[in-house]
This record gives sequence, C-alpha cells and structure tokens, in this order.
Amino acid sequence: MTIVGHLINGEIREDAGRLQDVFNPATGEASKQVALATKATVEEAIAAAEAAYPAWRNTPVGKRAAVMFRFKALLEQHADTICRMIGEEHGKIGHDAAGELQRGIENVEYACGIAELLKGEHSRNTGPGIDSWSEFQPLGVVAGITPFNFPAMVPLWMYPMAIACGNTFVLKPSERDPSSTMFIAQLLKEAGLPDGVMNVVNGDKEAVDVLLTDQRVKAVSFVGSTPIAEYIYSTANANGKRCQALGGAKNHAIVMPDADMDNAVNQLLGAAFGSSGERCMALSVAVAVGDQAADTLVAKLKEAMKPLKVGAYTDSSNDFGPVITRAHQEKVVGYINSAEADGASVVVDGRDPQVAGYEDGFFVGATLIDNVTTDMVSYQEEIFGPVLQVVRADSMEAAMKMINDHEYGNGTCIFTRDGEAARYFSDHIEVGMVGINVPLPVPVSYHSFGGWKRSLFGDLHAYGPDSVRFYTKRKTITQRWPSSGVREGVSFSFPS
Ligand code: NAD
Repeated sequence: MTIVGHLINGEIREDAGRLQDVFNPATGEASKQVALATKATVEEAIAAAEAAYPAWRNTPVGKRAAVMFRFKALLEQHADTICRMIGEEHGKIGHDAAGELQRGIENVEYACGIAELLKGEHSRNTGPGIDSWSEFQPLGVVAGITPFNFPAMVPLWMYPMAIACGNTFVLKPSERDPSSTMFIAQLLKEAGLPDGVMNVVNGDKEAVDVLLTDQRVKAVSFVGSTPIAEYIYSTANANGKRCQALGGAKNHAIVMPDADMDNAVNQLLGAAFGSSGERCMALSVAVAVGDQAADTLVAKLKEAMKPLKVGAYTDSSNDFGPVITRAHQEKVVGYINSAEADGASVVVDGRDPQVAGYEDGFFVGATLIDNVTTDMVSYQEEIFGPVLQVVRADSMEAAMKMINDHEYGNGTCIFTRDGEAARYFSDHIEVGMVGINVPLPVPVSYHSFGGWKRSLFGDLHAYGPDSVRFYTKRKTITQRWPSSGVREGVSFSFPS
C-alpha cells in the first residue's frame, strides 16, 4: 500500500515509526497509509528549516515573490490532480474541491505582492539630523498545524505568506487526508524554492508537541477544533512562542420576516450542506424571527431539500459527499438522535441515506431539524455535518442574544431587506465575520480571516494584512550620523 511520507530538506522520506490508514470516505476502504513522524523526524525538519533560514532571509524580496508567481502557475496547471486527491481522501465533490483550491491560490496571489507589503514605515528628521524607520523582519522557523476539512486551502492560508516574508516553515497537516497537501508542497521545489525552506511532517500529537516545545520554532499557526486550539495556544505561549489558533464554530443565520425567503432558502442550502457541513463557516443554525417566518422557512427548506444528492466525489452532479470517517458519521448521527430525544422535530432525516454502489461509505444525508432550543446539546456543540437546525425567536434582539451568548463567534449572516436592521446587526453582533444576505462571509485574501470568542485564540487573524504582522517582527531604527557640527555632549535626560 502507498505510504505518504514526509518532505524534509527537499526529499520525500519515510520513518520507521508508526503508520495510520488513510480512508476513501466514499467507499469506506483504506486506500493509503500515512507515516506518523517521531520526535527525531520533526527535529530533523526543524533543523532543515533552521539551516535554510539565513540564506532565505537574505534572498531579495523580489526573488521570493518570483517563487510565488511560479507556484501559482503550477497550482493552476495541476488543479485536476489536486482536486482528485482531495476527493479521494476528503470526499469533496470536484466542484467544491476546485473552489477550495481557487481560494488557496488567491492567498498565493496575495503573497506575490510581498515587496509592496514589506515596505515598512519611514520618518525623516524625527530630531535634528535624525531619521527613524520601522522594518518588518522575519521570525525564523515557523510552524503550521492544519485540519482535515481544507487540506489544500488552509495550509495555503499560512506558508505562502510566511515564506514570502522570509521565514522557513514546517507544516504538520491533517493525518486524515495528507496527499493533496504533500503534492502541493512539492510544487514549491519546482517553483524554485530552495530545499529546507518548506518542510512537511505528517503525524499526530507526538509531532505537534515537538513543534510546540522546540525552542527553534518561533511561531505557530493552528486551525482546527476549539479544544485542540486552546491546548496549542496555551502550550505555545508557555514555550515563549507567538501563536494564532483558530478553532471551531456554530454559525447562525438570522432570517427576518421581511427577507426574500426563496433567496434565503437557496443560500442556506449551500451554506449548511455544502462540503457535508464540514466547514468552519458552515451555517448550521437558522434563527427565524417570528413563527410565521419560521413556518414558511421550514416548509420551503423541506421542499428544496428533496432533490439534494449526496454521493461520491467522482460524480460531479452530487451536491456533497461523505463525512470524513466512520467515527465522525456516528457522531453526527448521534447529534441528530440527541436533538430528537430532547424534543426537537426531525423534518428531513438524513440518518440512513442510500448511496447505490457505496454502501460502506461514511454518508449522512441532508438533515433539517425544527424547534431546536438553546438548552439542547445539538445546539450548543459544533456538529460539523450536513445538519441544519431551526431555532425560533420572538424578535431580532432575542435572535442576536442567542448568537452573542454562544461560546463560538466565527461567522454569521442576516437575511433581510431592512438596511437599518442589517446595520444594527453588523454593528452589535459579537462575531468576527458577518454577512448581510451573504451566507458564507469568508474574507477575500486581501482581508484577514478570524472569529471571535472561542473561535480564535490570539490577536491576529489568518492570511491577508494580519499575516504580514504575524509572520514578521517589527524593528524600529533611529539613526544619526554625527559630524563635527552636530556632535553633542553627554546628556542624562530625554531631549526636551
Ligand atoms: P482537529 O482539532 O481534530 O485537528 C486539527 C489538527 O490538530 C490536526 O493536524 C491534528 O493532527 C492535530 N491534533 C489533533 N488532536 C491533537 C492533540 N491532542 N494534540 C495536538 N495536535 C492534535 O480538527 P479537525 O477535525 O481536523 O478539523 C475540524 C475542526 O477544525 C472543526 O472544529 C472546524 O470548525 C475547525 N476549523 C476551523 C477553521 C477556522 O478557521 N476557525 C477552519 C477550518 C476548520
């Protein structure tokens, strides 16, 4: 069976260590194995990154950008291969994988402009004959740890900007779907990146813990579930590292009585069930304001869900694919069971979907649950599956309070025709990314991505302008060239 190894100093390597099966979630079969890095392997990757750092740091910024331009072209050239690999291991349908890759490529495009982004700040004559400027220097070796749900895009949120800023990188991708991530990282060599600047170690907690504690790693970017994000953030901080750790979500959409209901229904379908709901920006809760709006919404959703197709990635007429593992399939079904046991009504039941020819796949069909209340476990926790829950609220204030009281604050959306209501909502909602009639308000690559509350630990958001700040440290230089005319005597106080 093929073994997915590690990329260290430009070479693909395998460990003598542990192996883990990688499944095709549509068939339920193990298609490959992934090597789980030992401490020694991760330390080798860090050493390779450290050795490559001095030369890469001093490589002119235009030459670093040139690597990114070539990398972007290679990603476009190999898009079909990458999307197939995503489908085989994640289960995403081709059109969805292509969207993921495109969003990743846009982050490479942003990194192509690194010369402009790193220009720094300059002030002339801050004192007599004194000039002062701030420059943004790279940190050294930085690490990224990424989740299964976007094996191409989320790593591309991180290393193109980190590398363009002059750092060297060690990536620890998800062990559940590692192939596309590895394939993409190898393209960097073809794009002209020197060996050792980009390294990939596959693995689990054992590998992650080395990255969190090794003193040579200066910063860690993490994306994944909230309990792990919190662990990563506190451990990295305790070890003196800069850290940004993006966590889980429970994204609500408020549906106002004046909303264009047909439009809201279409938008909700894609945002709730696209990618099997395995998106940190998936809309998993619709809060309908008023019973009349709720009844209309549920009736229209039920009707619109009839033609939805769940199936294998190989058939592009499918709307979404399986979930990632058998255990996750059981977890999602468990949440539907618990909502029902707690008194909610399962209006469309996806617990036992029939997918001809793929009887052993990890499928869950699109599920709609009405009359969910905030005390239910299925409301409080992230389900991360194709399940849309409807909660009823008496007023917009009550709907907003639910969102503001929830522990997560990643994304949200309001469907309305009322500009005043929309403005009030965006001003007062305690969430990092807000849509007005836009269900998935994922910021474009030249803004930054991040939630509030327990959806993000750290100060700076991912990619975009915040990533320049995250992957560099500011140095402020104050300069004077004394001449016989300006030479001064000793002074024991600040000049006044
Ligand atoms: P996960 O937290 O299980 O894994 C993420 C990474 O952490 C993986 O590389 C994994 O190997 C590693 N990891 C897992 N357990 C660990 C441990 N005990 N110690 C150290 N490292 C560990 O997340 P996942 O299931 O791969 O991804 C889904 C989650 O990611 C969801 O909660 C989703 O909301 C979240 N997510 C968030 C964003 C965001 O931007 N906020 C984006 C994508 C996904």
